[in-house]
Amino acid sequence: MEFRDLKTQYLRHKEAIDGAIERTVANAQFIGGGAVTRLEEALAAYVGVKHCISCANGTDALLLALLAWGVGEGDAVFVPDFTFFSTAEVVPWLGAVPVFVDIDADTFNMSPQALEKAVKDVQEEGRLRPRAVIAVDLFGQPAEYEEIRKTAERYELFLMEDGAQGFGGRIGGKRACSFGDISTTSFFPAKPLGCYGDGGAVFTDNDGWAELIRSYKVHGKGSDKYDNIRIGMNSRLDTIQAAVLSEKLRFFDEEVEGCNRVAAAYTERLRDKVKTPTVLPGYDSSWAQYTVRFSDEKQREEAASRLREAGIPSMVYYRKPMHALKAFEHIQTYKSDCKTAEETCRTCLSLPMHAYLQESEIDKISQLL
Ligand SMILES: *Cc1c(COP(=O)(O)O)cnc(C)c1O
Repeated sequence: MEFRDLKTQYLRHKEAIDGAIERTVANAQFIGGGAVTRLEEALAAYVGVKHCISCANGTDALLLALLAWGVGEGDAVFVPDFTFFSTAEVVPWLGAVPVFVDIDADTFNMSPQALEKAVKDVQEEGRLRPRAVIAVDLFGQPAEYEEIRKTAERYELFLMEDGAQGFGGRIGGKRACSFGDISTTSFFPAKPLGCYGDGGAVFTDNDGWAELIRSYKVHGKGSDKYDNIRIGMNSRLDTIQAAVLSEKLRFFDEEVEGCNRVAAAYTERLRDKVKTPTVLPGYDSSWAQYTVRFSDEKQREEAASRLREAGIPSMVYYRKPMHALKAFEHIQTYKSDCKTAEETCRTCLSLPMHAYLQESEIDKISQLL
């Protein structure tokens, strides 16, 4: 059984995807070109924002956004304590300080109340300037942007949406990657919209930031690539990846629907056994992960080993909260009370999740939990 069945997905759409790759190779345009521009336009239209700027991966996308805002030394950037490393990794890269914020026990996403308190604490302490918040759409469900935005506005913080796992999610019909002042996503193969290598994108309605990001991602270019007006980076999406993504975008909604069917089937079977994931009223998840919680670590480990013995993969996303990672041991960080994140790391387990999971497989997994 596959944790995320990319092979079946490919075989279902083989002709279209192979055709797109072949056309790119035949055109011999491997960097930039019409395929990249067309993808950016299609993604911007899909999400409902003015600008989509493609880049090399989801980590660069976060970094490019912080660069556009001029985040740097002395700045505090608020990130959830329970997320993939990248969300916090990019902050010290620019000399700024990550402030780890606790999550909500039901949604796994940044707790708006914990954020409000953390910003207030940092401001009162006065050593750092609260500058930006990066909310993450963890496991496919958008964060609580209505509440988070109130705090961002109250303290004049930039709001970023890390939609690496959230692409395809919605709040009241509005699509993920439209909720931040700048939003980002990743096209890593296992993400909701994955390509066949690394890829990422930045989304914004702001013309000035879009122009800056287009410059930063190509060596700080000015009017052309050899007129370098700022220190930038090399972060482009390969043309082949853009061609693959354009094809995959055509059947993306179908994939998300399939994942929603699987999630509903899991929840029906597991509701009385474990704590199943909560999707807030009016929210839609793209189900990057289906993550359940056990009452303690021992039960989690026992369930994982029962699955393993039956040849069923499961994963612990994430085993450590950000504040406990070795990488942050010797750099300045700021931790508020993150009890829920710690507890979640001990008790969570992510189950196989993809649109091609069979009812019989869902039954088997559910019986073993
Ligand atoms: C995967 C991921 C990223 C980074 O994306 P890459 O394309 O792998 O660099 C950032 N944030 C979150 C929440 C992710 O899950």
